[in-house]
Amino acid sequence: MLKEAIRPVWAEINLSNLDYNIKNIIAKAGADKEIIGVIKADAYGHGSVEVARVLKENGVKTFAIATLQEAVTLREAGIKEEIIMLGLTPDMYADTIVTYNITPVVCNFENAKAFSEEAEKAGKTIKGLIAVDTGMGRIGYLWDDLDAAEDVKKIDALSNFKIKGMFSHMATADAYDKNFSKLQEERYTGFYEKLKAAGVHIPFRTLANSASIMEIPSVHYDAVRPGIILYGCYPSDEVDKKQLDIKPVMSVKANIVHLKKVGKEFSVGYGRKFISERESVIATIALGYADGYPRPYSAHAKVIVNGMMAPIAGNICMDQCMIDVTDVPDVKVGDEVIIMGTDGKNTILADDIANATGTINYEIVCAFGQRLPKIYV
Ligand code: PLP
Repeated sequence: MLKEAIRPVWAEINLSNLDYNIKNIIAKAGADKEIIGVIKADAYGHGSVEVARVLKENGVKTFAIATLQEAVTLREAGIKEEIIMLGLTPDMYADTIVTYNITPVVCNFENAKAFSEEAEKAGKTIKGLIAVDTGMGRIGYLWDDLDAAEDVKKIDALSNFKIKGMFSHMATADAYDKNFSKLQEERYTGFYEKLKAAGVHIPFRTLANSASIMEIPSVHYDAVRPGIILYGCYPSDEVDKKQLDIKPVMSVKANIVHLKKVGKEFSVGYGRKFISERESVIATIALGYADGYPRPYSAHAKVIVNGMMAPIAGNICMDQCMIDVTDVPDVKVGDEVIIMGTDGKNTILADDIANATGTINYEIVCAFGQRLPKIYV
């Protein structure tokens, strides 16, 4: 058992695999491209400070997060590199942007003015990215907004807000069909040209997420923004995985805390969804849906125990679940259970859990990262 985990269940974060992944991503994007390490949501559940350190060692100089609190956490941990706030920041938080030297994205003059004024008070200059909505439908000037260039010109004239560059986000880069991505690329370029014609100099462009890094080199521009591939998961099953070799960074492991032999027709868990058909051995681990192990996975879930796949028995509870280990030889309290990961022979990927529960691997790793202790190896 791992005493430092404080619980007999933990997320094991393999920093060597992260190192392997970032090296391969840099090679794929091309050494001339800046890497913006997307470490929002606590680095997709992997721990943003530790992930940032490994990326820094590999020359990454810019990070992206999604909440101001995430940026403050990085600054307080001593991360001095540029931090881009990917979401919009209401004017009332301009002081946080300035105090912690965060790069905001903006899509209206008033917002940029609020940052400029706050920066002026502090005797600083804030740099920010112009956000363009090329088809994600989330944030940004609409690519065909006729007034946008005039608005950006006003931003460009602000005294203490400097336009660092232009940003947009891809909606379907992870699909086989790249038609919409091509359209987004055209809209992005069109907006860039429109700003240029209006006399606004955009020194830096960034559009590519993980799937685009793998499959759409024409949108790599100045900087690429890898997220999920850092963590060793592919953005979807539709991308050509041969394009990039990566290794999963997160595993989830537990120790058996309780074991019992039961007779026939013994029921397990809420709703009695498991009823033994033979004399059985049932193990309990202290992992539940509040730890990110999805309850809808209960009927499909398998774990790895002593080199064998064993099914979850009954419904996953909030903080515990039970395993039918009847066929597992020599099982005892304390034995290690792999919930996600590999023992070299058997493997359970975030994708397996996601596919069985109708979601994506992103959600699985984020959810496991929230409550589980993290052990870095
Ligand atoms: N850029 C933005 C704006 C994002 O919101 C995200 C994540 O959703 C990323 C980049 C990274 O995406 P991915 O994890 O697919 O690489």
